Amino acid sequence: MRDTGLGLPGRIRGCLFDLDGVLTQTAIVHAAAWREMFDAFLRARAERTGEPFVPFDPVEDYDTHVDGKPRADGTRAFLASRGIGLPEGTPDDPPDAETVAGLGNRKNEIVLRRIHDDGVLPYPGSVRYVQAVRDAGLRRAVVSSSTNCGDVLAAAGIADLFEERIDGHTVERDRLAGKPAPDTYLAAARGLGLGAAECAVFEDALAGVAAGRAGSFGYVVGVDRAGQAARLKAHGADVVVSDLADLMEQR
Ligand SMILES: [Mg+2]
Repeated sequence: MRDTGLGLPGRIRGCLFDLDGVLTQTAIVHAAAWREMFDAFLRARAERTGEPFVPFDPVEDYDTHVDGKPRADGTRAFLASRGIGLPEGTPDDPPDAETVAGLGNRKNEIVLRRIHDDGVLPYPGSVRYVQAVRDAGLRRAVVSSSTNCGDVLAAAGIADLFEERIDGHTVERDRLAGKPAPDTYLAAARGLGLGAAECAVFEDALAGVAAGRAGSFGYVVGVDRAGQAARLKAHGADVVVSDLADLMEQR
């Protein structure tokens, strides 16, 4: 490995960063919002059916079923894990509709409320790392399933560090398959004018590192914020760090 000072192979010319949990401290906001939404739904359902209420687990259920995926995919996957099927509904369903889209909209309202009330913090080590990537002349993109990506980047004050953005709006507009499919990362590489083998993927979600592996990217960095290093490796990470700044110290 040629020493770039960035902990990356010498063939890497572009870096593709996930947003929530990699650049910004918002994965925890999403996990809490999923729990608030699903628990209200599951509690009401339990009261109706007489079945026991089993709450959403913000670690195990979040990591396995929803993290990194587009909202509707995450909603559907978690409900399926409980043997629950709901109508799809349409994207403009109100947040109280008992549909996949309605539950997703309910979760998004909670995320927006929490972001509005609490603000967004970037990870300082990630900001230092992206600045070092820029200073080394590498290209930079953000790849997120979130439709709130632009607002979160702006609120964290880091929007101008990136040349290309693929987010939930791009996914809807171009009908891209969400993570764990590699399509969003491949679109970002194309947007930077690079091939997958020339790009590194930075991800904290199991679905995200799986997308990096599925797209045959040049390097996949797993960011372990939740003590799941072994699972990140098993799903496709070439290396796992707890903070992006750690990569600059691997010299
Ligand atoms: Mg993430």
